[in-house]
Amino acid sequence: MKFDKLKVPEDGEKIEIKDGKLQIPDNPIIPFIEGDGIGPDIMSAAKRVWNAAVEYAYGGKKKIVWMEIYGGEKAQEKYGEVLPDDTYNAIEHFIVAIKGPLTTPVAGGYRSLNVSMRQRLNLYACIRPVKHYKGVPSPVRHPEKLNVIVFRENTEDVYAGIEWEQGTPEVKKVLDFFKKEMGVNIRDDSGIGVKPISITGTKRLVKKAIQHTVERKRKSVTLVHKGNIMKFTEGAFKDWGFEVAKEEFRDHIITEDELWDQVKGPDGVTPTTKPGAFAELRGGKEAGDSGGRIIVKDRIADQMFQQVLLRPDEYDVIALPNLNGDYLSDACAAQVGGLGMAPGGNIGDYTALFEATHGSAPKYRGMDKVNPSSLILSGFMMLEYLGWFEAAKLIEDAIEKTITQKKVTYDLARQMEDVKPIKTSEYGTALIENMK
Ligand code: NAD
Repeated sequence: MKFDKLKVPEDGEKIEIKDGKLQIPDNPIIPFIEGDGIGPDIMSAAKRVWNAAVEYAYGGKKKIVWMEIYGGEKAQEKYGEVLPDDTYNAIEHFIVAIKGPLTTPVAGGYRSLNVSMRQRLNLYACIRPVKHYKGVPSPVRHPEKLNVIVFRENTEDVYAGIEWEQGTPEVKKVLDFFKKEMGVNIRDDSGIGVKPISITGTKRLVKKAIQHTVERKRKSVTLVHKGNIMKFTEGAFKDWGFEVAKEEFRDHIITEDELWDQVKGPDGVTPTTKPGAFAELRGGKEAGDSGGRIIVKDRIADQMFQQVLLRPDEYDVIALPNLNGDYLSDACAAQVGGLGMAPGGNIGDYTALFEATHGSAPKYRGMDKVNPSSLILSGFMMLEYLGWFEAAKLIEDAIEKTITQKKVTYDLARQMEDVKPIKTSEYGTALIENMK
């Protein structure tokens, strides 16, 4: 692969795909985008932490070979554009990459650089694990009860961005079409947005969620939708989700309805007395009646917001269309310490781009002040994606230990009593100390 302005490091190797599986060398080349605003601060702390974790876990046998690629302001300086082809080509070529936050330019017609990248690279699943680390302040009494992985569809629904502005000739055409061809009257002074949800988009997302549930031996997958109101988009997401579960994972799954059929009594309502069956039905906490199978269930979106607050431990892997996923993943993150603690990955069939879930917080640029945990934990996800579980575990343990020692940046310190915040770089160093 030829790049315009990128230098490929000579001491690393490319990740390959063989027989449908990633082949990870001991010295993989991983492209990274430093990010705008607070990007340089958090990326430099994070890279030190990731490198140390790999070093301690494998004693020099494995090593990430970093390759800088460019997005946002740095790319603008180097290429005269915020997302050059080099950047896309490098991510596609090297398959796994990680990025800091990018400032979306006000001019230039971008809705969001991140959305552009997800769409062009066809990274159709936005994956966000949400769990609580001991010591992290939380607004709920038992934040440790929430431990979910959100699989949010990344390419369609409202993210397809199909809209016509009120008052334009285009929207008039759309309104006329609705009126004449479809017999639907919509107020003349409306703007119109279209929300496509397809079989392709849904099935590949739900398949990835169930695959992950199987591989990581988790208990249940919940499809979240607003199918009671929008039957042919949201409701279809649910139907196609159950379809793909039965078509491709029949031996691994049982649906909630099937489980219910097993436990309901002769009156069709009162459950029979199989011990554990009902707990199993609701939470998937006790294996046994489901034969250790993954329970696939569905919930209406608005109810789900109550559920993650009131019965968080009954949910595990959650798959949703785009907009529901947007809201629910932030709401879940708020329960365990906010966006500063929430990692994310955008993943296609193989290509994976991991990223901090917060923005570039320009007002804190260069102050060595903000929390790098979201990015560091995105690297944790990346290490797991590479199959480097030992290094990933070191990072997770170090975060818990460091926060329990009350060594935290300002955002967490201000939610704790009598805690003096430390700098981004000091926090990175504390994590490394705690890995030894
Ligand atoms: P933001 O997330 O950058 O910042 C909002 C506030 O959250 C900050 O002022 C700060 O108080 C807090 N915050 C964010 N990250 C933090 C951290 N690591 N540690 C401690 N506190 C933190 O959101 P914004 O101000 O709406 O957006 C700024 C820019 O970032 C915009 O250009 C936006 O488009 C972009 N953005 C990028 C991404 C991304 O790259 N994934 C995501 C969201 C927003």
